[in-house]
Amino acid sequence: MTSVEIHDVQKHYGGFHALKDINLSIEEGEFVVMVGPSGCGKSTLLKTIAGLETVTSGKMRISGRDVTRLEPGDRGIAMVFQSYALYPHMTVRENMGFGLRMAKRPKAEIDAAVTRAANILRLEEQLEKRPKQLSGGQRQRVAIGRAITRSPDVFLFDEPLSNLDAALRTQMRVELSTLHAELGATMIYVTHDQVEAMTMASRIVVLNRGRIEQVGAPLELYNNPANLFVAGFLGAPRMNFVAGKVVETSGRSARVACAGGHGVTFDELAEPATRGDTVTIGIRPEKLRIDGAGSDFKFAGQVRLTEYLGRETIVYVDAGDLVTTGSDSGTGVFTVQIGDIRPFQTAASVSIGFDAREAYL
Ligand code: ATP
Repeated sequence: MTSVEIHDVQKHYGGFHALKDINLSIEEGEFVVMVGPSGCGKSTLLKTIAGLETVTSGKMRISGRDVTRLEPGDRGIAMVFQSYALYPHMTVRENMGFGLRMAKRPKAEIDAAVTRAANILRLEEQLEKRPKQLSGGQRQRVAIGRAITRSPDVFLFDEPLSNLDAALRTQMRVELSTLHAELGATMIYVTHDQVEAMTMASRIVVLNRGRIEQVGAPLELYNNPANLFVAGFLGAPRMNFVAGKVVETSGRSARVACAGGHGVTFDELAEPATRGDTVTIGIRPEKLRIDGAGSDFKFAGQVRLTEYLGRETIVYVDAGDLVTTGSDSGTGVFTVQIGDIRPFQTAASVSIGFDAREAYL
């Protein structure tokens, strides 16, 4: 069954067009993560679902009901914010039961709901404490607990983990995925952290400048990005991009020439290319090989910097006349990711390469 349906939504803030032609259908029980760069509109989209912002035009349905003009409290949603938004003078128990108390539910029902949420979130020992007596991770669990007690049709999360340190974020990521599996509820989650998106989402929505660029399962987007934006946004370190020109075509094959006389042939293209087309070749850092002998595309470069990350090595290689664009490492520099630890001298000459079937055009 469809849980949330967003139909042709536009949002204008005065003269600024913040959401453009948003259409999205979310099935019951999905964990949908919205990602995109700062200012792309992900929080605005979440707030329009919550009813904290009105839409300029378009329609929203939640569990089959048209909620476009309804107040937040009437939409069957519960939202968890980055800032927790707990009441400092209330205990954990009172914070978690607050929504139900406001709704004038009987005490027995509130107690049962709080006990259940505290069990799920392992907060049984903390129920009589106030927020300031809790760790950041515990506070965030209370905020989630407050959402759970309301049994909403849809949970909305706005960067809930961004105030936590790296270790706690990792732990909370696992807890949220487990919670989702246990509750089976629809969850919509906004983050700028692509690791959160890749690990928790059943589907990722990539937003850019107020528009949806692509929607799909994490690996589907990673392996088959629909455009340059998605290719560059998902993946850390970022994909390397090299400018080229189509110099020869045959059916679904195209020969692409790059600066410095380098070239490579791509087969089985999704769309036929035209001679003279300006194109971009994309290569993920983990698909580049140092000591590229035998690769379809190989070139010489110079090591500029090496980063040892414990179980992998990132090497930044200056390829001279072969120009990269928009990568992490800056114009003209390739990022190479090696799955083990290998020492490289700065300024050493290396040969790098990749195979066309592992690259994107
Ligand atoms: P971030 O990751 O930085 O939080 P975001 O993708 O969540 O970014 P939004 O908060 O949705 O971005 O904002 C999208 C755009 O709309 C931004 O350019 C922002 O400046 C603009 N915007 C947001 N709220 C308002 C407002 N109340 N009035 C005018 N412009 C706004």
